[in-house]
Amino acid sequence: MKLDTIAVLGGGPGGLYAARLLKRSHPEAEVTVYEQGVPDKTFGFGVGLASRTQRNLRLADEESLDGIVAAAHGHEMSMRVGDNEVRLAHGELLAIGRATLLSVLQKYAEDAGVELRFGERRSASGIDADLVVAADGISSATRTDLAEEFGPEITEGEGLYLWCGTDFALPRAIFTPVATEHGTFVAHAYPYAPDRSTFLIETDEKTWRRAGFDVSTRETPNGESDQLSLSYLQEAFSETLQGNRLIGNRTKWLRFRTIRCRSWHTRNTVLLGDAAHTAHYSIGSGTKLAMEDAIALDRAVLASGDLGEALAKYEAERRPAVEHLQAIAERSMAWWDSFPDRLAMPVEQLMIAYMTRAGKVTVDRFAESAPQVARPGLAAFAGVAIDEVPSPASVAEWILDQPLACGAHRFPRRIAPETLRNAGGTVPVEISARPWTPETADLIAVLPHATAYWLTGPDDREATLDRLDAGERIRRATGALVVADVPAGLRTVAAGAVASERVDLVAFTG
Ligand SMILES: Cc1cc2nc3c(=O)[nH]c(=O)nc-3n(C[C@H](O)[C@H](O)[C@H](O)COP(=O)(O)OP(=O)(O)OC[C@H]3O[C@@H](n4cnc5c(N)ncnc54)[C@H](O)[C@@H]3O)c2cc1C
Repeated sequence: MKLDTIAVLGGGPGGLYAARLLKRSHPEAEVTVYEQGVPDKTFGFGVGLASRTQRNLRLADEESLDGIVAAAHGHEMSMRVGDNEVRLAHGELLAIGRATLLSVLQKYAEDAGVELRFGERRSASGIDADLVVAADGISSATRTDLAEEFGPEITEGEGLYLWCGTDFALPRAIFTPVATEHGTFVAHAYPYAPDRSTFLIETDEKTWRRAGFDVSTRETPNGESDQLSLSYLQEAFSETLQGNRLIGNRTKWLRFRTIRCRSWHTRNTVLLGDAAHTAHYSIGSGTKLAMEDAIALDRAVLASGDLGEALAKYEAERRPAVEHLQAIAERSMAWWDSFPDRLAMPVEQLMIAYMTRAGKVTVDRFAESAPQVARPGLAAFAGVAIDEVPSPASVAEWILDQPLACGAHRFPRRIAPETLRNAGGTVPVEISARPWTPETADLIAVLPHATAYWLTGPDDREATLDRLDAGERIRRATGALVVADVPAGLRTVAAGAVASERVDLVAFTG
């Protein structure tokens, strides 16, 4: 297909990367990036790039990935609760300053022959080009202007987050909560340069209000940072910060917005990156998704005879992967929103709950990749010595074989006897709504008193994960025994849920 002019709205990672790839595959085309901001004035601190993302970027364009890796900072992961810390060697986790990433991508776009026009805000309707790539970010005006065609749906998370940084490099990435007189704040922090770390801090609405941050958020003018919150959090996280300061950059409390669109393209205009979709930052994926969209768009344009076919192909290829990640991200967001409820768990067991939170990693896989954390975590779950925990291949069955004493109930293993289903005191509960929705909260609020709740529902994977997540909420809200039906094919998922205290017992179906 011959394209003479390609206009890219937005010089974020998605737009810059798409511009470079498209210019390389269409050297005759005039490719222009319009960016409303000016270089080096970008918001944000560091962003993480997982090893799988690096592999995908290497396959698409080795040269620019080398440039990114050279400017990035490697780190391993850890979680600390109180004085207890666990570490996770993670191989190839990288983080890079957003401003650095953009300057690397600007250079590679220009090297390929892309024209970068800064300080120019444009709209899709005001541009005459064969192809308009709208990479204009989470607040995309293109998506709003063409809302009928794109059909956007925006949902907000329950919790609040604040994105800031500090001017020293943490020794490793860390997840750590602190309890203050107002409630719990959790930091996700990681180094991204020899003298910089990102600090992303979360809390729940009640804590946020009690600390007076609803007022400070309201009173912080647009474009400025909420200094009151930053000073408070600097004090609260002083140990992790090792006495360093927290720095804002237009830093304010926000609720995470998940964007979904019914369609990503109309006529010659296509949405890419955050403009089309977002996924919660706790799976570190927005930059990755935007850059992988660029790869898919370039490939689809190259492989198609006309633009309509190309844009349809791009969407058909990307949508399943994006929706899969959004499902994982939604679960991860809900897990973090309820993180303070799990602080009584030993930190190694908490790490198992963290790794298995979204259904992506199973407990046996985690035991294989990080035995130094998983083994003590499983020993804590079972109340046995670490050397009693078997090899990763046998871990799932071993978890299900652990006995349980709960009130008057004694069970030899974690698979519920069928007699319990119809026993007096057992209440069946059908879970049909997502676990973090008001419907499920209402359902939990009016549950009749019971000694055991037996959760049922559809047997597909997502519904099962929902049921296990709802189980955790019911377990914490009622203190009763919770059993969930799980399809026999999801045995390792069931074992992970039991070891993470989402449910007490499972019953295999099908
Ligand atoms: C708290 C937080 C933490 C995050 N952490 C990570 C992480 O660790 N890893 C990760 O991969 N991602 C992370 N992300 C996500 C990441 O920042 C975004 O997903 C990513 O930047 C999306 O890239 P993009 O190119 O689609 O949009 P953006 O980076 O938002 O770029 C859009 C650009 O378009 C410009 N623009 C907008 N409208 C116009 C217009 N009309 N004309 C011209 N220019 C315009 C804007 O100025 C902006 O530069 C995080 C996000 C948040 C909120």
